[in-house]
Amino acid sequence: MPTSETAQLRGGAWLIEPSDPHDVLTPEKLTDEQRLIGATTQRFVEQEVLPALDRLEQHDWSVARQLVGRCGELGLLGVDVPEDYGGVDLDKVTSLLVSERMASAASFGATFGGQTNLTLLPLLLFGTEAQKRKYIPKLLTGELIGAYCLSETGSGSDALGAKSRASRQPDGSFLLNGEKMWITNGGFADVFIVFAKIDGEQFTAFIVERAFGGVTSGKEEHKMGLHGSSTTAVILQDVKVPAENVLGEAGKGHKVAFNVLNFGRFKLGGMCSGGARTAIGEAAKYAAARKQFGQPIATFGAIRHKLGEMIVRTYAVESLLYRMAGMIDARIASTPHDANDGSVSLAVLEEYAIEASIAKVAGSEVLDYVLDENIQIHGGNGFVKDYPAERHYRDARVNRIFEGTNEINRLLIPGMLARRAIKGDVAIISAAKALQDELLGPPELPAGGDGPLSDERRAVDAFKKTALMVFGLAMQTYGQKLADQQEVLINAADIMIDVFSAESAVLRALAQGDRTPRAALHVDAARVFVNDAAMRIDASARQALAAMTQGDTLRTMLAALRRLMKFTPIDTVTLRRRLADEAVARGGYIFA
Ligand SMILES: Cc1cc2nc3c(=O)[nH]c(=O)nc-3n(C[C@H](O)[C@H](O)[C@H](O)COP(=O)(O)OP(=O)(O)OC[C@H]3O[C@@H](n4cnc5c(N)ncnc54)[C@H](O)[C@@H]3O)c2cc1C
Repeated sequence: MPTSETAQLRGGAWLIEPSDPHDVLTPEKLTDEQRLIGATTQRFVEQEVLPALDRLEQHDWSVARQLVGRCGELGLLGVDVPEDYGGVDLDKVTSLLVSERMASAASFGATFGGQTNLTLLPLLLFGTEAQKRKYIPKLLTGELIGAYCLSETGSGSDALGAKSRASRQPDGSFLLNGEKMWITNGGFADVFIVFAKIDGEQFTAFIVERAFGGVTSGKEEHKMGLHGSSTTAVILQDVKVPAENVLGEAGKGHKVAFNVLNFGRFKLGGMCSGGARTAIGEAAKYAAARKQFGQPIATFGAIRHKLGEMIVRTYAVESLLYRMAGMIDARIASTPHDANDGSVSLAVLEEYAIEASIAKVAGSEVLDYVLDENIQIHGGNGFVKDYPAERHYRDARVNRIFEGTNEINRLLIPGMLARRAIKGDVAIISAAKALQDELLGPPELPAGGDGPLSDERRAVDAFKKTALMVFGLAMQTYGQKLADQQEVLINAADIMIDVFSAESAVLRALAQGDRTPRAALHVDAARVFVNDAAMRIDASARQALAAMTQGDTLRTMLAALRRLMKFTPIDTVTLRRRLADEAVARGGYIFA
């Protein structure tokens, strides 16, 4: 596990600081134990969940309960839970791997996520010792099923606008009233993390048991996808909740809500990259088998382009996810703490909140791209239910909506960075000033250097400078009113997502050295990603600069941008073909 200073870059610091490929965790560096847990999860999904999918889709929640119980037996529910409470206390890399391998059964993945990320995690991070001992062991065996009740009809993105009310009673207990919407596991959960305002004011998290009385589930929602997971309203009518069931501090429910979402976003990114891997396998096999005009469609350039691009984008998102997991684990490992004390994990997850939002947005959008192309490669067969491609497509769409919509997450990325810059946590402001002087000074040739991926490393350096230029100018131009400029913030977020993805892909390819037989394919994938990221970043930067400046200033900024982003395009056609052909030959995704 990487533990050097570089591996422990602070959240967002990669934007201005270099990383060493040796310190970066990649999927190729997984230990045997981690691989074993990944394989166990995959086997469980293939042998137990997928055969039960029809019954899940008919809303037979006894099957969902049974499968959660099986996850408990296999240790999959307790990956993030200390041994003292019955967990197996493994690292976040393993946690990511489990999410990834759960992905081909997205409906059950939602049930599993509701139990682990949304119920066990808040208890672990914010629960008192008594709360942990009371609820966690039963959640780990599947005896209790959990759900997380934040959203309401009128408050989704604006979660703090919740109307649910907790009226304080003379004996210190609370009476909860309200209606929560779109609750995963809502139809059959036993214990709920509910957010409500004490006396209409203090936004607070509570642990609510169905057995308290007054909790009812609405009817199952008719959804576009995830038909095998329960999504209902949860109605609270005079539910008497004892004082000891406040989770975290009264009035600090936002801390519970947002920190839980941070980790959820990272793991959702894992579910998405896992889903993309599965779909690439389906597409490659179908393209090899399906013949048109007397030859397999996999031999047509149009299809090879699609397969190649599906691999490139998945490679980048997977690279950023494992890099991030490595950063989190390194930070937790280097901070002395008691295994049962959630406060260190909490602080570390908060530290990497920017990366968590990037993981969620990049993961969900790469997945949607891959699944759309998977359908296209399947042609008419992609549109009918005989093949899983159409189910994957429907199941995935919600990933851009829940765990914070992608718009909200995009706004959070530069928003959180601006707050850190102002506090001086990340030296963005001085770096942006230095860059401004450099860019407005006499032209300088880009730094030399050669070796593997040297052009791509230079490109990533230029991407970071472009991000700094746009972000620094936005902070300077709008100051306190930056939050009102959503279009520019979204441009900045898009650039940052591409920077983190491109750098992670390049670092992963470099980390292979030339030891592995597949090293050249890693280089191909990283090169294609960087080549195309350059075009996207250039377009976003131009749009943002033109929104912020005009006339001579704009012309000067654009000239600086041209100098930074002056690249010769590479032959991505050949590289994508190589990647596609390898996937077809293997009948699946080509990396670890
Ligand atoms: C299948 C499913 C399962 C779910 N599971 C759960 C669960 O277990 N627990 C739970 O609490 N919730 C759950 N949800 C709810 C989910 O988290 C919300 O749907 C989501 O947060 C979005 O809220 P909303 O639907 O009210 O959309 P809105 O907030 O109304 O958003 C509508 C649009 O406006 C945009 N928008 C909103 N505010 C802004 C802004 N300030 N700036 C720019 N754009 C903005 C959004 O990005 C979106 O595009 C689930 C939803 C689904 C569909």
